[in-house]
Amino acid sequence: MDKCRRGAITFDLVQSRRRKLERVDEKYRGLTYPWGRLHHPEEEPFEVASGVWWARFSMPGALNHINLWLLEDEDGWTIVDTCLNLDSSRDRWEYLFEGFMKNMPVQRVICTHMHPDHIGLAGWLCDRFNCDLYMTQAEFLTSTLMMSYTGENVPAAAIQFYHRAGFSAEQLENYQKRFGGFGRFTAPLPHNYQRLSDRQTLAIGNRYWQVVVGQGHSPEHACLYCPALQLVIAGDQILPRITPNVSVFPTEPDGNPLEGWLTSNARLLNMLPDDLLVLPAHQAPFRGVRVRLNQIIDSHRMALAKLYDFLEEPRLLPDCFQCLFKREIGENEIQMATGETVAHLNYLWHRGNVYREINTRGQYEYRSDPEAHYIDIDAK
Ligand SMILES: [Zn+2]
Repeated sequence: MDKCRRGAITFDLVQSRRRKLERVDEKYRGLTYPWGRLHHPEEEPFEVASGVWWARFSMPGALNHINLWLLEDEDGWTIVDTCLNLDSSRDRWEYLFEGFMKNMPVQRVICTHMHPDHIGLAGWLCDRFNCDLYMTQAEFLTSTLMMSYTGENVPAAAIQFYHRAGFSAEQLENYQKRFGGFGRFTAPLPHNYQRLSDRQTLAIGNRYWQVVVGQGHSPEHACLYCPALQLVIAGDQILPRITPNVSVFPTEPDGNPLEGWLTSNARLLNMLPDDLLVLPAHQAPFRGVRVRLNQIIDSHRMALAKLYDFLEEPRLLPDCFQCLFKREIGENEIQMATGETVAHLNYLWHRGNVYREINTRGQYEYRSDPEAHYIDIDAK
């Protein structure tokens, strides 16, 4: 009796793992989620369009998953993004190779951008299948540079950057302990690659995909647009419910990634048709790309206007968190929050809307120029 019951439970489990996602067209905050905003494939990938399969990999941390895309053709597979270099992700790949992917070869690995959850296993996959890595040049070179920092001491320029940004002594110490984390989750990358460029067309199987480059979240982020299938693999460039991190880092302390972010999203807004299926790297596929791009652009524009008003009085950088974040910033988020706040302040500073000065403690103080008017005509 017990044995039968266990058997029944196991059978149910297998059935539920293999269940197909049902089409529900859930509407939420202006977007439509064909398979629901909270549903996703479990162990087995799910076909979102002819030959395009959605695989979901678990990851540690607040962003607990990534969506990877498997493109099928007669000769094998193209993998888009790879997950972190962890034993659990390698095990998951092995499970897919032997089962769902039927041991067919991987022909190429495409990484949308350089963040470890996207490139973590690119080197391992390319090595295993003797295939090429496809990335844009800035993403490949920057990730190679970041990998080279692993195990190095923290440069003085990085300490200065976070000190000027208002880090306490304890926060600086925590930063030094975490430094070099990039390489811990990324397998060594191949020493050569195939370059992806904006507007380039890639033939995969019998379909054409156009590379569309965005900036701001990472230096040269590739999205893959397939007109025949009416879909875009968006990586982290267009996420449905979280706004991708746009940050300044110590390597380029006066950088202005928010300019690139707003400009490239405005370009995508003009370029992409609205009836596309968007395949994001996190959360669920959706329709309504133009609505979403407008939401993202508007949220930054509102934050910039609020920040400009807030800086009527001179403020230190951590004071500005309240303009950009709806929650208290915890110690684990301080580096991300600082980078994102510098991105907004640098945007206003580059436009001459805000001044900055170094105070007697060596920290930046920001203040709006009362004569400047916040004008942002280029964002759309
Ligand atoms: Zn990313």
